[in-house]
Amino acid sequence: MNTGPFSTRPIRLLPPALRNQIAAGEVVERPASVLKELVENSLDAGATEVSISLENGGQTLLAVRDNGQGIPVADLELAVTRHATSKVASFADLLHVASYGFRGEALPSIGSVADMLVESAYCPEEGDCAEGAFIRVRHGEIAASGPSSLPRGTLVEVRDLFANVPARLKFLKTPATELKRCQETLIRLALARPDTGFSLSVSGADKPQERMRLEAGLSLPERLISIWPRQLVDSLHPFDAERSGLRVRGLVAPAQQAQARGDRILTYVNNRPVQNRLLLQALRQAFKGRLTSREYPQAVLFLDMDPQEVDVNVHPAKSEVRFRDERAVFGAVLYALEKALSGSTAGFFDPLGPAASGVSAPNGQVPASANIPEQAELPPLSAHSSRPAGFWGSIDAPRLVDRVEQEREDPAEQQERPDLPESVFRASRPSALREEETGYAPIPKLPPARGGYPVSVGDFTCLGQVADTYLILVHDASLFLVDQHAAHERVLLHAIRNQTMSAQSQLLAIPADLPLHASEKTRLEQLFGQLTNLGYSLSATRAGVSVSGVPPLLGRTEGLELLRDILSERVDGPEELLHRMACRAAIKAGQTLTADETAGLLRQWLDTPERAFCPHGRPTVLRFDPAALEKMFKRTK
Ligand code: ADP
Ligand code: MG
Repeated sequence: MNTGPFSTRPIRLLPPALRNQIAAGEVVERPASVLKELVENSLDAGATEVSISLENGGQTLLAVRDNGQGIPVADLELAVTRHATSKVASFADLLHVASYGFRGEALPSIGSVADMLVESAYCPEEGDCAEGAFIRVRHGEIAASGPSSLPRGTLVEVRDLFANVPARLKFLKTPATELKRCQETLIRLALARPDTGFSLSVSGADKPQERMRLEAGLSLPERLISIWPRQLVDSLHPFDAERSGLRVRGLVAPAQQAQARGDRILTYVNNRPVQNRLLLQALRQAFKGRLTSREYPQAVLFLDMDPQEVDVNVHPAKSEVRFRDERAVFGAVLYALEKALSGSTAGFFDPLGPAASGVSAPNGQVPASANIPEQAELPPLSAHSSRPAGFWGSIDAPRLVDRVEQEREDPAEQQERPDLPESVFRASRPSALREEETGYAPIPKLPPARGGYPVSVGDFTCLGQVADTYLILVHDASLFLVDQHAAHERVLLHAIRNQTMSAQSQLLAIPADLPLHASEKTRLEQLFGQLTNLGYSLSATRAGVSVSGVPPLLGRTEGLELLRDILSERVDGPEELLHRMACRAAIKAGQTLTADETAGLLRQWLDTPERAFCPHGRPTVLRFDPAALEKMFKRTK
């Protein structure tokens, strides 16, 4: 017997039942895919009410009933025949499909792997219905047909899915899981059709129970509540914009709500739920710099476009699409979202609002020159400073001494130097509490009050620093906590990016020789130009590289460390180089700041666009407004 791969058998057409089973393999994966096909048919038939009932997660029974226009008796048999559809008639039609279905595969596929009853009464016009009829298909064969008493619309009942395909049956999950998938599938479709009412009931041992009801006319957020937490839905922001003939609309959550899960991105093209890489990329791009690499945006996004510009015939389940003009789509989505994330809604994403300091231009963007000090203004560098030059250097220095409000501190404060050990000035500090003077002992030891606080910056008052890491700000009855490192990072990145910092090299008194591995040498060659632009003076040596100058922002130690990091790790492009540099040069968490330094930092930061997020997408500032505080103190009912 020869059954090997080289056996020669005559070519034969597959019998129709087998053809349908093969097609079913692509279209019908599980109860949720049956539900999707049937509900889409109901929507294509113009239904305004669709009710679904399930038994056993849809495996033993999945029924969909609608009030759509129905199927003429004469067409019932055709409807369950492969490649029979009422939706497209020619290739030209295929190029602008506006219906969910067009392949004529669903009903015959389902009928080949289940026991399927289709009952329908055709009503071409309102109130004018023909006699109903039914057809029953079992495992690919027509089992019965005849008249039905159904008054209008269509009812499709699918029983014992995959009973004749045990291999598929094995792949089904528990009824609870299949039910959950059915529910998700239904909601995804329902979100695109707020005009249509949907209900889902589940029958167990006894009578059916309604699981979910989505009334016709409920708004998109009202429907979303059934799958997303209310607090998230409440934070969603609508967008609706048009560009190059493409309309992009929907709801998007602010970056602060982002989570490390990617399942709250629902995308639709012409109301069809789709998975599409390009749409995801555009969404991600719009959030660039506002999310960490582990976080995902949360959005419902509808793209409405000329059906001719999109190919929906890419996947048997029609869940993928291809765009004719990908650039236009990417651009339109980005445009719509960026508009939502900035502009008039900036306050929504930036807890400080678009013009916190009064220096910003009306659109929330600061003219590139607004906070760039002239070189001439530079005060001499503090000799005692051991910090990276960035903090005292060209972009910071003027601001750090340029305090708005000038109450003079006492002489003890003036002597305070950040790099003196705390104990040196603690003893001489008049404000320090001395136990023996109070008469009440023991008194909990308070950290010594730091001089100069509170300080005002614009409309803000900074009360001081906590944990040497966060700055406490008050403005308009709201309390803000600013992460000093993240805020400074954002300031520096903006300055570096806009080349408001001179890229001259700060020459090292003694050049440093760094030995490099072969891979590091390659990276050095690739990045040489960029590193030079940033202010490095480098020359290749046999063992590695000799560094004779570093970016002035960094200073020797930081500059050399950053160079080592960059050459030993992978760096993705020039943007990341800038991020690294800003991160290295920024003041650190755990660093004590004087009131002057704090004021300088805050002024720069308030003038920086996108100040609400650090370059890695973490927030730089948290806001507690009266409502939030009331909630936290449970003062609200
Ligand atoms: P397709 O949706 O791709 O046309 P289907 O196999 O899903 O293919 O359905 C075949 C045909 O049966 C449809 O074109 C439509 O004419 C008819 N049909 C199916 N379901 C319904 C329904 N719920 N209401 C009215 N007509 C339906
Ligand atoms: Mg269909």
